[in-house]
Amino acid sequence: MHMSTINADLHCHSTASDGLLSPAAVVERAHANGVDLLALTDHDELAGLEEARATAQALGLRFVNGAEFSVSWLDQTVHIVGLAFDSASPALVEGLHQIRQGRDTRAQRMSDGLAQIGIRGALEGALKYAGNPALISRSHFARHLVSIGVARDVGNVFEHYLVRGKPGFVEHEWASLEDVLGWIHGAGGIAVIAHPGRTRVDKAGMTKLFERFKDLGGEAIEVVSGVQMGADALEYARVARRYGFLASRASDFHGPGESVVDIGRSEILPPDLTPVWERLV
Ligand code: AMP
Ligand code: MN
Ligand code: MN
Ligand code: MN
Repeated sequence: MHMSTINADLHCHSTASDGLLSPAAVVERAHANGVDLLALTDHDELAGLEEARATAQALGLRFVNGAEFSVSWLDQTVHIVGLAFDSASPALVEGLHQIRQGRDTRAQRMSDGLAQIGIRGALEGALKYAGNPALISRSHFARHLVSIGVARDVGNVFEHYLVRGKPGFVEHEWASLEDVLGWIHGAGGIAVIAHPGRTRVDKAGMTKLFERFKDLGGEAIEVVSGVQMGADALEYARVARRYGFLASRASDFHGPGESVVDIGRSEILPPDLTPVWERLV
């Protein structure tokens, strides 16, 4: 099969983080949707990889390890996807453990912030939506707040409660870009800038990110990523060409009903770009 005709989806989530489907169900859905090469990339967590790999093997679907690392960059959060790393690498495993512990502290402070405006027990409520109690995210708070009628959907909860300046938001220091690339590369993996069109970093900050990422040996960028498509994708195709980054294609699927783009159904990459999966197959 020619490379460009591969249906690769290198970014999606399961109940090991803030996805709605189990790792096995994510892989089954990918298979049903015609995906040839899949990476499961849960936030700061590897717990879904074994089940996903076993399911993929049974279905004859190519699978690579993945994770989406939370990184602080210029007072904002950026996400870096790691692919095809050794999931037993001690530094990577310990680094992710530290990020998850930071999430626990943050979640308590988010809950305190919401209590101050009269929303009590938000952490306990959010944990009911967490498929993995070791990985608590704003998505779990959002689903709980929708369920108690605070807002009509998850997007509304974020807008009014969970972003900077709102009562459930707390400033948080994630891992550094340097550490995360060190963990990924130390484990033999490939680093990808996730959904560059969806960060809150300004244009100058993104240019600095691309330059620093390149200096650190970062390999790839998501050109097509869920709702980052069309003109947005063309903008990041230009970035890929300018910096010599490999191009990735992703759905960033979280679950039916919550995600606009299904697994394996993202736009295809501009044909002149070198797909990151040339390094994976
Ligand atoms: P966290 O890593 O805990 O800060 O949560 C980030 C996650 O929240 C992202 O990976 C998305 O799944 C979700 N998210 C962020 N912003 C929004 C939004 N505006 N609407 C819906 N989901 C969002
Ligand atoms: Mn998410
Ligand atoms: Mn992300
Ligand atoms: Mn994601």
